[in-house]
Amino acid sequence: MIDPILPGATIGVLGSGQLGRMFALEARRMGYRVHTYSPDTDTPTGQVADREVVAAYEDLEAVREFARHVSVVTFEFENVPAQTAQAVAEIVPVRPGGEVLHIAQNRLREKLFLSRLGIPCAPFRHVTSLAELESALSELGTPAILKTAGFGYDGKGQIRIHSSEDAVTAWETLGGEECVLEGFVSFEREVSVVAARGVQGEFAHYGLIENRHVSGILDLSVTPPLNVFGGEPIEAEAVKITRAIFEALHIVGTLCVEFFLTTGGKLLVNEIAPRPHNSGHLTLDAHLTSQFEQQLRAVCGLPLGSTERLRPAAMANLLGDLWEPKTPNWAAALALPNLKLNLYGKEEARTGRKMGHLTALADTSEEALRLVQAGREALTDPV
Ligand code: AMP
Repeated sequence: MIDPILPGATIGVLGSGQLGRMFALEARRMGYRVHTYSPDTDTPTGQVADREVVAAYEDLEAVREFARHVSVVTFEFENVPAQTAQAVAEIVPVRPGGEVLHIAQNRLREKLFLSRLGIPCAPFRHVTSLAELESALSELGTPAILKTAGFGYDGKGQIRIHSSEDAVTAWETLGGEECVLEGFVSFEREVSVVAARGVQGEFAHYGLIENRHVSGILDLSVTPPLNVFGGEPIEAEAVKITRAIFEALHIVGTLCVEFFLTTGGKLLVNEIAPRPHNSGHLTLDAHLTSQFEQQLRAVCGLPLGSTERLRPAAMANLLGDLWEPKTPNWAAALALPNLKLNLYGKEEARTGRKMGHLTALADTSEEALRLVQAGREALTDPV
């Protein structure tokens, strides 16, 4: 039995974006203190944390000093260098541990790990040269998607290849880096499972969440998924796969698995995010315990909370594009019923940058989706 880390203690967060912000708000609500570590200042997490440490992830002495003032360290950003997590682990527990970080940081490692577990994912080939790309394309066919092996998120570092003539341009566009070529999946829809595992191995999940992407970036999430599509057996299979990933890596914390549900009714894993996930933001309002509170409970060794869904819900991301040509009309959106606004405190609204999200609650998923889209449209109403 490991002693739990109780309210009043200080939690360290590596990374300082919106995921850390929502985590910190939940942690502070429960009486914890939060220190955040990243190279940036006035960050979404730093604005609501007790302490914002500004230093490079590679500055291992600063990392150790950060670790000396906290009881446990978690992260909200998986591209933290492995040595950083290692330096922390010499002083306090890192939850989840460095192994899952290492796997999730690299698409090739992720796919090899999934294959070893016998978990289906899109067909793929490892590509380190133009010649390898050409031969991979002849094996997998087109369309296909070329993705850099490392540091990709939100559709960054990937390019769709429509015909084998596009190979040279695609290879040059991604800068000749180590890549993975993925066969194009003809999917019926995309879904995710957000779940958590505690220090004793207890497990809790939020069921299936349906996701829609635009230009590789999550646009809308809805729970439960719209209409029946194989329903419970698909959900049970997705949860089983998610749990197998947690168990294989002894993960303690919150993790999300993104899936393609193919037109043939098969589940393929697209990606693993070893932290709370954008598709789980609706748990803040729609579930008894949010994905962030669950992360806190898990990393502190406390019992996990109930994941009961209170109402069907939908979430719409608010990207920086909405600030063009002027600040969104908040009052118009908030005039709609059952709509919640979350903004991340980011000063500069850039195209494609996640600035906040709206969540709508309703009697059905369809209604929640309609409402959240109406709310987002109202943001562009004249003031
Ligand atoms: P990723 O950053 O790999 O999660 O990709 C972002 C989005 O691009 C996914 O959520 C899908 O909508 C789309 N996508 C990525 N890989 C594939 C694929 N192999 N086949 C079809 N669509 C894909």
